[in-house]
Amino acid sequence: MADAASDGSGLPSFRFPLAAQPARVTAGGGARGHSVANFPAGKNIAGVSMWLNPGGLRELHWHPNAAEWGYVLTNRCRITLFDPDGTYEAWDLDAGDVWYFPRGYGHAVQGLGPGDCQFLLLFDNGAFQEDATFSITDWLARTSGEALAKTLGVSAGTFDGIPKAEAWIVKGEVPKPLLVQGEIPSAPQKTPRLPHIFHLKAQEPVLHSGGTVRIVSVKEFPASTTMTGALMTIDPGALRALHWHPNADEWQYYIAGRARMTVFCAKGRSETVALGPGDVGYVPQGYGHCIENAGGDPCEILIGFNSGEYMDSGLARWMAGNPPQLVATNVGLPEDVIMRFRRHAVLVKG
Ligand code: MN
Ligand code: MN
Repeated sequence: MADAASDGSGLPSFRFPLAAQPARVTAGGGARGHSVANFPAGKNIAGVSMWLNPGGLRELHWHPNAAEWGYVLTNRCRITLFDPDGTYEAWDLDAGDVWYFPRGYGHAVQGLGPGDCQFLLLFDNGAFQEDATFSITDWLARTSGEALAKTLGVSAGTFDGIPKAEAWIVKGEVPKPLLVQGEIPSAPQKTPRLPHIFHLKAQEPVLHSGGTVRIVSVKEFPASTTMTGALMTIDPGALRALHWHPNADEWQYYIAGRARMTVFCAKGRSETVALGPGDVGYVPQGYGHCIENAGGDPCEILIGFNSGEYMDSGLARWMAGNPPQLVATNVGLPEDVIMRFRRHAVLVKG
C-alpha cells in the first residue's frame, strides 16, 4: 500500500513503491500493479509492471474500460492487435519501443527473449485491474462446446481438452520471426492503416541544459489518441522546472537514479516525495510540480499522461508572459529583479 503523506496534510501519498509490491507469478511470467484500490492518488491512470519469459504469452484478451499504453524496458516481445474494422497487426518490439491498444481492442504480448522481457503498462482508467481483464481462455471455458463449434466451424468435441479457467500468462516456445513487421500473412488482410507501435527511445531527444526529453503524443504517434508518453533524463544537480499540465494527470516510473518531487496542491498544501528505481510517482491533473535529481547519477523517468495531446504551463514562461510591473506587485519583488528571471525553463542544470 502507498503511505499517506506524513505531513498531516491529509493528502494521499504521490509515491507508490511498485517494484516492492507482491507479484502474481506464473511459469510464463508475472506482474505487479497499482490502481486506485492500493494507490488512492492514482485516480485516473493505473500501472502494471509485467515480465514474460522467452516464449511466455500474455494471452489474447481485451480491456473493456481502458486503453493500454506499453513501454518495453528489457529484451524483446511481440504484440498482436485486432482492430474491429478488420485490420490486424503483429510487431516485434525492442527495449525503448511503445505500443498503444485502444480501449476494447483484442491483443496479446509474447516474450521473444533472449532473457525476460520486462515492460510497463499504463491504463487510462485508475479503476483498471490487470486480474479483471477479458481473457480468451476464460471466455472459452464459460461457453458451451456447441456454441464454440458453431462459431469456429469444427465439431463440439474439439474443445474438450481446453483450459477450464483463465490461463492469463501461458508458457510457450519462442515463436519464429515475423516475415514482415506489422503483418500477419495468414490473417484475412495484411496492411495496417495506422501502426499502433512507436520507437520512442530511437528518437533524437530534445536537449536542454539539465537533461533530455523525448515525447510521443498523438502528434508523433497518431494511433495514440488518449495517451501521451515521455522519456526524460535529469542530470545530477538539475531540475525539471516548476510547471503543471492543464489537460492530464501525470504518471511516472523511475527507471534509474534518485529524485525528489514536490507537488503543489493549493489550500496551503504541498507534498515532497523521494523516488528511486521501481517507484511510481503521480501528479493529479493541474497540480503544480517540479522534480530534482537527488543523486549523483542521471535520473531516467518514463512518464505517461491520460491525454493524446501534450500540454504544459511553465512557471517561468507564465511569469515572463505578464507585465513585469504586475508580477512585481504580485510577488513583492522589485521590477528589475523580475526582468532578470529566466523566461523559459524545462530542464535546468544545477
Ligand atoms: Mn492488455
Ligand atoms: Mn510534469
